[in-house]
Amino acid sequence: MANFWGETLRVLEQRLPAKDYATWIAPIRLGEFADGNATLEVPNGFFRDWVRQYLMQQLTDALVETSGQACRVSLVVNRDLGTPKAADPPRDEHRRATIRQTRIVGRLVPDYTLDEFVVGASNELAAGAAAAVAAEPARHYNPLFIHGGVGLGKTHLLNAVGHAALADRPKARIGCLTAEAFVNSMIAALRRDQMDAFRARFRRIDVLIIDDVQFLGGKVRSQEEFFHTFNALHDGRKQIVLASDRAPQEIRDLEECLRSRFASGLLAAIGLPDATLRAAIIVHKAASLGLELGPELSALIADSVRGNVRELEGVLNTIRARASAGALPVTRALVREVLGAVRTRTDADRLVSHVMEATAAEFGVTAAEICSARRSARIVEARHVAIFLCREVTDLPLATIGQRIGGRDHSTVLYSLARVDKRRAGDPKFRERLGRLMASLHES
Ligand code: ADP
Ligand code: MG
Repeated sequence: MANFWGETLRVLEQRLPAKDYATWIAPIRLGEFADGNATLEVPNGFFRDWVRQYLMQQLTDALVETSGQACRVSLVVNRDLGTPKAADPPRDEHRRATIRQTRIVGRLVPDYTLDEFVVGASNELAAGAAAAVAAEPARHYNPLFIHGGVGLGKTHLLNAVGHAALADRPKARIGCLTAEAFVNSMIAALRRDQMDAFRARFRRIDVLIIDDVQFLGGKVRSQEEFFHTFNALHDGRKQIVLASDRAPQEIRDLEECLRSRFASGLLAAIGLPDATLRAAIIVHKAASLGLELGPELSALIADSVRGNVRELEGVLNTIRARASAGALPVTRALVREVLGAVRTRTDADRLVSHVMEATAAEFGVTAAEICSARRSARIVEARHVAIFLCREVTDLPLATIGQRIGGRDHSTVLYSLARVDKRRAGDPKFRERLGRLMASLHES
């Protein structure tokens, strides 16, 4: 568990200002972690309230990322931890990190390196291309465009390109950020009337790595700006690497000029790992977690978790946490128990996404709109119905249903259910509509 908490700390250290990290995160100790419930120990009540108010989201996000599962954080006071000093980070390390970071626009996740990436049939084209462009930027494929579903290693490979490029050429300037961060930084620059500085910053970059470019879909102004940045770098023979959850042709509302630029280099798809790759990933991750699984348990896991790599990682992290960080032996019973919990969760996840799809289609809205804060009549109605259907077809607690539908709280869920009940009683057309939706869900 120390390892996994250590990883969470590293993520937070990268994300937070050094001072906040040293003051509010470094003193925290991981008490317990089971089934996504993390108990974190903090030195006093003031500390607890401060963290709860300002850092809860960041903490939870980091835990979700490193454990690969939904997490709930509780903070408890442990007076033994003592009053933290307004700690300074170790100076040398801090300075070195600062120097390293000045060469990077955005950030590189420390452990997402090529060494840590296990190659198999479903990702070998992408991994090979990533290694090639990192070794010789702008010589092979430009851009390199990696696409595939969630949790399959796109972000990992993008970061690996950054690390490898930097290892070969310590002076290289790397830009590694999401399309969303690019857009936000552009908007901020526009607002402050600093577009020249914005352009200069991005056009100095030697290797530009942009994650989740599907985010640009529908954003005309951002696409235009990105197009100019792209061309300036490409013309200057700088390497560009992009990742997206779908191929360029499938990104909605993307200007033709960008679409064709995106597809003009190498398109490398990553697919779901096959049994061989799953087994290899399990061996690799178990070793780095210090877990002794043996061939039989490894095979059991490889055979049971057939989804993406993130799920696989989540299972291994949970097994490790349950085996008290390696202090207890990993038994077959323990593995079965963890796998059972995962299966129930993925079933519920699948049902929720069916509900979202079916409701969105029925009401002519998108799943994202249902989860959004928008309040147009049609979206609100679809949202009430989606919540109602989730309660009908899953056995998830209401709070969890609210979480899945755009992070709504328990009372909002109750309100939606009441609205649907009321309309169901008085409106035969609505009743019919619900019936149709329910039937379609039972078929799927
Ligand atoms: P994506 O960006 O495609 O959604 P990520 O790159 O975030 O996926 O990968 C999810 C998790 O799975 C990460 O922790 C990553 O390190 C791990 N992962 C994915 N593919 C591999 C692989 N081939 N070898 C090792 N780890 C992998
Ligand atoms: Mg990603």
